[in-house]
Amino acid sequence: MLKKAPFFSLLAFSILGQAQTVLQESAPYTQEHQQLVTALIQSLTPKVETPAVILPDGWENWNTVENYTFGKDRGSLPMIADLEALHPFFRDKISQLIAICKAKGIELALVETYRTHAKQNEYKSMGKKYTRSGGGHSKHQYGLAVDVVPIVDSVAQWDDTKLWKKVGAVGEQLGLRWGGRWRNPYDPGHFEWTGGLSSYHLSNGLLPYLPKSYNNPCLEEELATLNEGWQSWEVEQATIARKPLASAKTN
Ligand SMILES: [Zn+2]
Repeated sequence: MLKKAPFFSLLAFSILGQAQTVLQESAPYTQEHQQLVTALIQSLTPKVETPAVILPDGWENWNTVENYTFGKDRGSLPMIADLEALHPFFRDKISQLIAICKAKGIELALVETYRTHAKQNEYKSMGKKYTRSGGGHSKHQYGLAVDVVPIVDSVAQWDDTKLWKKVGAVGEQLGLRWGGRWRNPYDPGHFEWTGGLSSYHLSNGLLPYLPKSYNNPCLEEELATLNEGWQSWEVEQATIARKPLASAKTN
């Protein structure tokens, strides 16, 4: 009976392993039948999708930092903490800041670079010690500010005033504005540079004036790519912020 209608009999055994066993153990089948069953087995095997190739510099790969990574409550939305997310001119300055501090024996960790509107609004909702600026008014939102923290023996040093002064001095020598000079809030991990522009100018789309000595033939392309990355993160975090479980304030 099996021999008369092998296809339909085997279909009854179509749980893959069983079909395979029958195929291997049933010598009398013709090659044609075997090919038919092999094709049937293949058609029932789930196809594995090849994962999409992600470029190393893609915004999806920007390094992020989760809340409490450096021992502080920084809200539920992850922080973007990648140098790639910064304006190219400012990025070079921060690379220098990190390198010079390292040469002085101070290890700096990046806590946050670019910040989305959703993230800025989350800080705003957390109170004045976090920020006084709402969405659109922080230099972080233009890739022109960073928050760093010195690390000693794997522990973030938020309260070491002496250490902060050393870091601040390096930043100021590089022409950066240092939040350690501020009182409301005192923000020693914050460095920014705007090329003379205010938040008002930046929010109206003006680009910072770069020193004549700065020579970057790919600046326009870099800024265009950067802008795409920023917009993608804006969408990403705005979507997360709208979900009730991930929202900044649930009470
Ligand atoms: Zn900051």
